[in-house]
Formats: sequence, structure tokens, C-alpha cells
Amino acid sequence: MMIGITGTPGTGKTSIAAELERRGHTVVRLKDTVRPYIIEEDCDRQTMVVDVDRWVEEFEPIDGFVEGHLAHLLPCDRVVVLRCRPDVLRERLRPRNYPKEKIAENAEAEALDVILIETLENHPDDHILEVDTTELPAGECADRIERFVRGELPPSYGSIDWTGYLEIG
Ligand code: ADP
Ligand code: MN
Repeated sequence: MMIGITGTPGTGKTSIAAELERRGHTVVRLKDTVRPYIIEEDCDRQTMVVDVDRWVEEFEPIDGFVEGHLAHLLPCDRVVVLRCRPDVLRERLRPRNYPKEKIAENAEAEALDVILIETLENHPDDHILEVDTTELPAGECADRIERFVRGELPPSYGSIDWTGYLEIG
């Protein structure tokens, strides 16, 4: 079974995947697989353009977790969408020294459910678990994910509404 762990930057993908790896699960990181697919790198904005279609097409399915903000584009058997309240997300991204536009873009994407919507476009409802990491420690997020994968926790999403955190103007 291949399980994607996706979410806006700062939602906790890498931390939670590390915890799952400590618990003995196989973890593949997007960052370690996109190298051959980079089309362009913009060092100023700390972003890169990836040939996503080709990455998806050539990705060898694994038995375990795939961590990264494009994981929901893979043919995963289950997808975990990590969430974080936009004001807290901004604080989590602060130490990264991203340009302020990039912090704002990520906070806005999170407020607008962008990754969840993309996930729903690619996967059936009953394969999706949304986990709000705003106040749940990484270990407890990992617990929920393990229970979901074992079928002990039902799929669920859609209870979050952070449109009130959209910055106007
Ligand atoms: P991502 O890989 O999604 O960009 P990271 O795992 O790098 O996110 O986490 C971003 C920041 O948020 C880090 O400083 C990390 O310690 C913190 N963090 C991650 N998960 C949690 C959590 N569940 N609760 C509180 N802080 C978290
Ligand atoms: Mn990460």
C-alpha cells in the first residue's frame, strides 16, 4: 500500500514522515526523487519548476509513505492531507527565510484548501484523511495516520474552514 503525505509547506510533512520512519515504516521523500525532473531553478524565490507529469509517470510505486507537497498527484492508495491554521503556518515558515511573498502565498493556499481540493480531484473520498497539525504534536499525528492506514480510523476531511484567515488587500 502506498500512502501519500501531502500538505502546504510548513504543515509538518517532513517531521511526521521522520516519526513514521522511526517507527519502522518505509518513507520516500519527494525532495529525493525530483532531481532528474527539475526544469528550472529560481534561487531568489527559493522555488524550482518540476516536470510534474513526467515525475508522476515515472514514479515507481512503493509500499510505504511518500512525503511531499506533490504526493497527492501520485496513484496512492491512501492520501493524508496535513493542515495548519494559516497564522500558525506563517510562524512555522518564518525560520526558513523565505521571501515574504512566498510566506503569504503559502498561508493563502492553506486558507483556500488548495492541496485538499487537488487531492479530491485525484482520489476517492474514502481514501482521504485530513489531519489538523495546528495543535496536535507530530507523534500524535503519526498515531492517527497509522490507525487510518490499519483501517481503525475512518477517512475524513472537510471540517476545516480557514477562509477567515485570508489576508485582504
Ligand atoms: P513541511 O515538511 O510540511 O514543510 P516540517 O515538518 O518541515 O513541514 O515542519 C515545519 C515546522 O513546523 C518545523 O519547525 C516543525 O518543527 C514544526 N512542526 C511540524 N509538525 C508540527 C506539529 N505537529 N506541531 C507543531 N509543530 C510542528
Ligand atoms: Mn518538508
